[in-house]
Amino acid sequence: MASSGVRNGGPRMSAKLDRQGAGATPKAAAGKQRLSSAAGAYRRTSSGPLPAAGGRASSDGVSSRVRVAVRLRPRNAEELAADADFGDCVELQPELKRLKLRKNNWESETYEFDEVLTEFSSQKRVYEVVAKPVVESVMEGYNGTVMAYGQTGTGKTFTLGRLGEEDTAARGIMVRAMEDILADITPETDSVSVSYLQLYMEMIQDLLDPVNDNIAIVEDPRTGDVSLPGATVVEVRDQKSFVDLLRVGEAHRVAANTKLNTESSRSHAILMVNVRRSVKGRSEMDVSISGENGHSSSMIGSLRPPIIRKSKLVVVDLAGSERIDKSGSEGHTLEEAKSINLSLSALGKCINALAENSPHVPVRDSKLTRLLKDSFGGTARTSLVVTIGPSPRHRGETTSTIMFGQRAMKVENMVKLKEEFDYKSLCRRLDIELDKLIAENERQRKYFDDEVERIRAEAQCRIAEAERECKITLENEKMKYHQEYLDSIKVLEEKWKTQQQSPKRQIKEAESTSSDVGEAHNLLQNEKILRQSAEDEASDLKNQITHWKKLEATATAEVVKLRKMLDTEASQKEKLEEEIGVLRSQLLQMSMEADETRRSLDKGDGPGKIFPGLDSLASQTRSSQPREQSNGPKQPIAKLSEQVGLQKILSLLESEEPDVRVHAVKVVANLAAEEANQEKIVEAGGLTSLLVLLRSSEDETIRRVAAGAIANLAMNETNQDLIMAQGGVTLLSMTASDAEDPQTLRMVAGAIANLCGNDKLQTRLRGEGGIKALLGMVRCGHPDVLAQVARGIANFAKCESRAATQGNKVGKSLLIDDGALPWIVKNANNEAAPIRRHIELALCHLAQHEVNSKDIISEGALWELVRISRDCSREDIRMLAYRTLTSSPTLQAEMRRLGIKM
Ligand code: ADP
Ligand code: MG
Repeated sequence: MASSGVRNGGPRMSAKLDRQGAGATPKAAAGKQRLSSAAGAYRRTSSGPLPAAGGRASSDGVSSRVRVAVRLRPRNAEELAADADFGDCVELQPELKRLKLRKNNWESETYEFDEVLTEFSSQKRVYEVVAKPVVESVMEGYNGTVMAYGQTGTGKTFTLGRLGEEDTAARGIMVRAMEDILADITPETDSVSVSYLQLYMEMIQDLLDPVNDNIAIVEDPRTGDVSLPGATVVEVRDQKSFVDLLRVGEAHRVAANTKLNTESSRSHAILMVNVRRSVKGRSEMDVSISGENGHSSSMIGSLRPPIIRKSKLVVVDLAGSERIDKSGSEGHTLEEAKSINLSLSALGKCINALAENSPHVPVRDSKLTRLLKDSFGGTARTSLVVTIGPSPRHRGETTSTIMFGQRAMKVENMVKLKEEFDYKSLCRRLDIELDKLIAENERQRKYFDDEVERIRAEAQCRIAEAERECKITLENEKMKYHQEYLDSIKVLEEKWKTQQQSPKRQIKEAESTSSDVGEAHNLLQNEKILRQSAEDEASDLKNQITHWKKLEATATAEVVKLRKMLDTEASQKEKLEEEIGVLRSQLLQMSMEADETRRSLDKGDGPGKIFPGLDSLASQTRSSQPREQSNGPKQPIAKLSEQVGLQKILSLLESEEPDVRVHAVKVVANLAAEEANQEKIVEAGGLTSLLVLLRSSEDETIRRVAAGAIANLAMNETNQDLIMAQGGVTLLSMTASDAEDPQTLRMVAGAIANLCGNDKLQTRLRGEGGIKALLGMVRCGHPDVLAQVARGIANFAKCESRAATQGNKVGKSLLIDDGALPWIVKNANNEAAPIRRHIELALCHLAQHEVNSKDIISEGALWELVRISRDCSREDIRMLAYRTLTSSPTLQAEMRRLGIKM
C-alpha cells in the first residue's frame, strides 16, 4: 500500500455519504462547523420522513454513520524531555481531515477522519465538533452516544470529564453537554436525570452510590432496550448540582479504585443522561380544540394521549486501550486481566463485526457492549473521539487507536426518534377531567335542585297569595250581604214598628230597655195621659178643619158662579161691540158707495191707472152723489180708520160673519184706492189678509173686492214685489181661471196688468203663469176685461222692448212664447178704443225687437203694423209703428217681398 495512499474507508464512506444525501456530511466540505451543520441537515430530514409516532411504531430510521474525530494530545513534560530528538509519530492535516502516521522516517500512512483535532484544539471546539450535534440530536428525541477511546494518558478524561472549575475554557464535554441540555429544556414539562456508573471487571458500580456496586442490566424483551433499574437516578435542575454530582462521582471513582487497588484507567466511566420532553403543540392543540368544541369533543381530545420523547445521552470514558500485560503486571491474575479487558475487546469485536457488516455482532459478550448496544449498530447517534499522543514510543498503541477509529467510522446506525404516547399523563388528565365533570355535574344538580325548590316556593307563595285574596274577597262579599241583610231586617223592623206603634209596643220597649217595671208603668201612665190630651186636641182641630172646608166650598161655588156671570157679561159685551162695528161699517159703506158712484161718474180710465175697487163699488151702487162731494169719501173712510183703527178693520177681514167680512174688505179696498193709505195697509198686514181672502173665500163679492184692493195695491212698485213674494201671481191666476164674474176678472186682469209693468218681475211673472192667466181671461169677452188684458200685454211688451234695447233680454218675447200673438193680431183692430190702443202699442213694442220679426211675419202681425203705421188715429202710435217697420231689416225685407210700400 503506497505511503501516499489514503487508507481505510475513504471511498466506501463517500458512497455512504452520497446515499445519505443532504442528511450526511459531505466529506469534501471543510470547516469547523462540519459536524454541526451535518447535524442541522440531519435534523431537517429527520423531522420530515419520520411519522408523528416515529420511533414508537415504525421501524423506519435514518441511516447515520458513527462519527469519529481524532484528537492529538500535546507533548507532556516527559515527552518534551524524552522525545526531544524525535519527531512526532503523527502528522495532522486538519484542513484535509487527514492524519499521517509515520511508520518510520521514510514511510507513513494517511488516514481520513470526520474531524482531526490538533494539539491546539480548544475544549470548546472539541465539544462543538464531537458532542454538540449529538446533544442537539438527543434534545430532539434521539438517543446519543459520545465516547472517548484511546491509550491511557492521551486525554480521554481531559476531553470528556474536565469540570473546568479552575478554568472555564477547560470544561469538558459532560459539563458543556449538560449546559446545553439545561438551556434547551422546558422545566415545566421536561425533565433531565442522570446516573453515573463505573464498569470494572464486568461489574457495574454506582458512582453516585458506591455501595451499589453490582448493578444488573435489564433488557426489555419486547423492545430490546436495556436499562439499569438499580442505578441511582438523580434529577438535574441546574448546572451546579450536575457539576457537584460529577465531582461526587469522580471522588467515588478515585476512592473505589484505591480500594480495589486499580487505576481509573482500567475502568469505564459511564454517564447516562435521560432527557424526557413532551412534544409541544400537539397535545396542547388537542386541548384547545376540546376547549372550543365543547364537551364531547373535549372527551375525544382528551383521549389523545400527550406525546413525549424520551432520549438518552450516554457519555463513555473508556478504559485505556493499551494492551495489558498478560502477566498481570499490575498485580492481577490472568483471569482478572481478561475480565478487565473483556468489555473493551468485546467492543472492538462488535465494531469490527459492524464495520464488516458481519451477520453476527457479539453484543452480549460484555456488559459494555450490552450497555452500548444502541450506540453501535443501534438507533443512537454516536460520536467517537479517539485520543492519541504524539510520542513515537507509543506508535503501536497510537496505530491501534487509529485503526479502532477507522473501523468505527464504518459502523452505520439507524437513528430513530424515541417518541411515545404518554398514557400515564393521559390517564392523569382524564382523571382530572372526570373529577372536573363530576364536580360540575354536582354543581349543576345542586343548581337544578335549588332552582326547582325556588320555583316551588314561588308557586306556593303565589298560591297562598291567591288564596288570601280570595278569602278577603269572600269575606267582603259576606260582610256586604250580611250588612244588606241587616239593613233589610232593619227596614222591615221599622216598617213593623210603624205598623205596630202602640203603647203596648212602647211599654214593651220600655220594659226591654229598663229593668224597672214600675218606672215603665209610670211612664206608660204619663204617656197615656199625654196621648189622651193629644188625641183630644187632634179631634178638636179636625172639627175645625171640617168647618173651614165647608166654608171654603161655599165660597168656591160662589166664585164659580160669579165667574160664569162675568163671562156671560163679557161675551154679551163683545157681541154688542161687534154688532156696533158691523152697523157702523154698514153705515159707512153706504155713504162711501154713494160717494164712489158719484165720483166714478166724473172719472175716465187713464192708461195704466185704474181704481178697480172704486169702479166696482161704483158700478154696484146706483146711488148718485153730487160731484162736489167727490172729495168726500176720504173723510168717512179716514174717519172710520181713525175711529175703529186699521188693525181692527183688517182683523174684521177674518171675522166669522160673512157680512162683516164683506164690509170689511170693501172698507179696505176703498182705503187701498188711496195711495196714502196703501203703505199703512201693507204695513199692517192688509196685503197678506187680502191674499188669504182671495185664496180662501168662496164669496164672489169678497174675492172681487179683494182682487180690486190688490189691484190698487199693485200700482205701487214695492207692493208689486210683496205680491210676487207672497205668491200673489199664483193666487191671481187661480182666481182668473175660477172666476166667471167679468168684474172679478177685470179686477184680477187689472192687478196682473199692473204687475206686467214691472221690469224686474217679467220672468217670474211669466214663470208663475201670469201671462197665461191674462190671456185665459179673454174667454170672458167683456170689453173691460179685454181692456185690462190688452193693457197688461202692452205693459209687458213695453218692458221687454226696454230690456232688449238695454241688452238685458236676448231671446224671443215671452208673450210670443206664451201664445199671445194670435190674440194680439185678432184684436189689433178691436172696435173698443182702449183695447185697440193697448194692442197697437204692444205690437209696436214687439216689432221693435228683431228676434220677434219672424213670428210677427208668420202670425200676420206685419199687416197690422203696416195698418197702424198708416191708419192709427193716434199720431204718436202711428209714428211709432212706422219707425218700427222701417228700422227692422227683417220686416223691411218681408215688406219688399210682399210689395208693401210705406
Ligand atoms: P486519560 O484519561 O486518557 O488516561 P488524561 O485525561 O488523564 O488521560 O490525561 C493525562 C494527562 O495529560 C493529564 O495530565 C492531562 O492534563 C494531560 N492532557 C491530556 N490531554 C491534554 C491536552 N489536550 N492538552 C493538555 N494536556 C492534556
Ligand atoms: Mg482517564
